[in-house]
Amino acid sequence: MKGKVYLVGAGPGDPDLLTRKAWRLIQAADVVLHDDLVSPDVLALALPYAQVLSVGKRCGRRTISQEEINWLMASYAQSGLMVVRLKGGDPEIFGRMGEEVEALQEAEIDFEIVPGVTAACAAAASAGIALTDRRLASELVFLTGHRASGEWPDRGWCGLSARGTVVVYMPGTHYEGLVKRLYEAGFSPQTPCLIVASASRPDEQKQLTTLEHLPQAWLKASPAVLIVGAVAGLGPRSAEELEEEACATVG
Ligand code: SAH
Repeated sequence: MKGKVYLVGAGPGDPDLLTRKAWRLIQAADVVLHDDLVSPDVLALALPYAQVLSVGKRCGRRTISQEEINWLMASYAQSGLMVVRLKGGDPEIFGRMGEEVEALQEAEIDFEIVPGVTAACAAAASAGIALTDRRLASELVFLTGHRASGEWPDRGWCGLSARGTVVVYMPGTHYEGLVKRLYEAGFSPQTPCLIVASASRPDEQKQLTTLEHLPQAWLKASPAVLIVGAVAGLGPRSAEELEEEACATVG
């Protein structure tokens, strides 16, 4: 008898942000194969006798390859077990789900995808902003800053609109290259930028800055997303900032 693989979104960290389905499946799984970003509070839901294995990039002393992850999922399922492949946020967003789905299809293994709350949404929620506030943004782009070569990819930037919102996943902490690309795409130096680290977790941190000051940002914690665009400036202001704005309006 073949088992089944569930590709499940674990959300941004707070277990209360898991879907009911994710919660139920984690509590029923024989095997949980999880990424680094899945929070310990979520993993704690697994059964005491479930095999909970980290297959994240930093797992153990060596990097586990995508082929090995595919092989593990398939072998457990082929021995009749219920496997939860648990990914941070939503499995469909920068989560290599495509390769895993392909491998499961090739091995003729039954699978199901369970979406989760992606980091961009958790970050926007904690900042109290709407990513597509209709007064300011009519487009929303999710970009990944992760680049094997160390350079920001050339493709895609001219398609960005400075009237939209850009959320950068895996932005790194060296923003010079990103800022240059965004200038080229038409974003102004004053464009608000909000860095949100560990969204929905107890150690969540935020920093509001502008594109021109982004390279000097103090917030270097990870995981973090960067929200670029006018909506990023709508979040809660400090009393000092509100006062400054009021003075500028009066003046
Ligand atoms: N599938 C995930 C993204 C995986 S890529 C999702 O949908 O959220 C990993 C990147 O996601 C991190 O480098 C970071 O940019 C972002 N990320 C994940 N969890 C986060 C969190 N709690 N707070 C801020 N960013 C997070």
